[in-house]
Amino acid sequence: MFEKYHLSDTAKIITKSIPGPKSLALLKKQEELESRNRSYPRGIPIAFGRAKGSIVEDVDGNRYIDFISGCGVFSLGHNNQKIIGSLKKYDGLITQAVDFPTKVKIEFMQALSDVLPELLRGKCKINFGGPTGSDAIESAIKLARIVKGRHGIIAFQGGYHGMTTSALSVTSKLSHRKNNEPLIPGIHFMPYCSPYRCPFSTDNATCKGECVKYFKYCLENPHSGIDKPSAIIIEPVLGEGGTYIPTKGWLEKIVDIAHKNDVLVIFDEVQAGFYRTGKLFSFEHTKATPDIIAISKGIGGNGYPLSLIVYKKELDVWEPGTHIGTFRGNQVAMAAGLAALKFVKDSEVQCYVGKVGTQILDSLEKIKNKLKYVGDVRGIGMMFGIEYVKDKKGKEPFSEMACAVKKLCYENGLLVEIGGYYGNVIRFLPALVITQKIAKNGLRIFEKSNIEAERKNVL
Ligand code: PMP
Repeated sequence: MFEKYHLSDTAKIITKSIPGPKSLALLKKQEELESRNRSYPRGIPIAFGRAKGSIVEDVDGNRYIDFISGCGVFSLGHNNQKIIGSLKKYDGLITQAVDFPTKVKIEFMQALSDVLPELLRGKCKINFGGPTGSDAIESAIKLARIVKGRHGIIAFQGGYHGMTTSALSVTSKLSHRKNNEPLIPGIHFMPYCSPYRCPFSTDNATCKGECVKYFKYCLENPHSGIDKPSAIIIEPVLGEGGTYIPTKGWLEKIVDIAHKNDVLVIFDEVQAGFYRTGKLFSFEHTKATPDIIAISKGIGGNGYPLSLIVYKKELDVWEPGTHIGTFRGNQVAMAAGLAALKFVKDSEVQCYVGKVGTQILDSLEKIKNKLKYVGDVRGIGMMFGIEYVKDKKGKEPFSEMACAVKKLCYENGLLVEIGGYYGNVIRFLPALVITQKIAKNGLRIFEKSNIEAERKNVL
């Protein structure tokens, strides 16, 4: 259905070895000039040439199937021609308008407001942040603290919210926080609903909602040692933490407990939002309703930087200029975001994501059963996690195997990412418009790479 949006339908490695010579030269030059901080090209040593849809081509002409999509940014594929084409009509568009109104900005805000879940439609305000998801989190936390006049925040283990100070403060991964503490005070972490690795379960039984009880206990027990927070912040589907999808009813219970205790609810939809799970927001698969929603990544249409929060109108009490910044008004990103919202509607992307996402998950289940070290596969819409363990019963994390598979995938022409509590989950975030054929070809490479990795025995 979306064939014309892709460069080709499969991977093709044409150099004798990868990285090819041109990639190698650029990577070498990069090392000379750029900070040690660079991280992605260490695991996937590629210098990009061009990209279209779900296919990216390196400077040597090797083609890869892209199951990362710029960390979930290219939801409608690289260089989606409908989106790029729509930008042509804005000849002379002011590129950066801080927070002045423009026609395209108003149209974008209206279009977004029109697709909000029914319970929030017409009842929300939008605040644009600096160009990254982290800044949406900064503003969400700032707003919650101002509204409630309390500084604490409850976050969840496995949650990733960004790298700026407040966003990092609510991000649980210790290696990210190392040498940066103290971060902002008053942050406490609660267990996330991750049934495959439930910290309360001693018998690997199904979820009994113990973490909900613990959360309630911490909020309501006068001896909890935790001051009443202004808000909780939570990813309705855990992204970087390993694609954990809470059990039915979990999110609703957490939100209900927070609200009963006069605590605001911030949902971080930076990764799982913008139709990645088949709905505008991943929380729309539940009956839970937040007070503040952080949005970024896919909303910029074609990787253009756009980040914002949507929040209930009654919270709009902060003083003008409380969360300012130069790059809050990227008009190209708003125009692309507007086109992206239209594309989703016109092309019935939501339905497609549900259908193809289920097919990919079914295939992953079959692949899992053939493999020795895949303990669990999880997925919702176009968001997948494949968890590697040393043995399926004991579930000891096997990050070395995940890394070996990722490397072989790359060598065989498939780009995948790693996340998870123990760095042992391979993650797929394919474009929402990936064709069934490209998805199939990608999964074939994935299976082949797993078999090769098992044979090499990296233990
Ligand atoms: N929240 C979530 C859920 C994310 O996945 C990310 C990025 N991976 C962020 C926030 C931070 O976004 P950015 O990297 O654009 O600052």
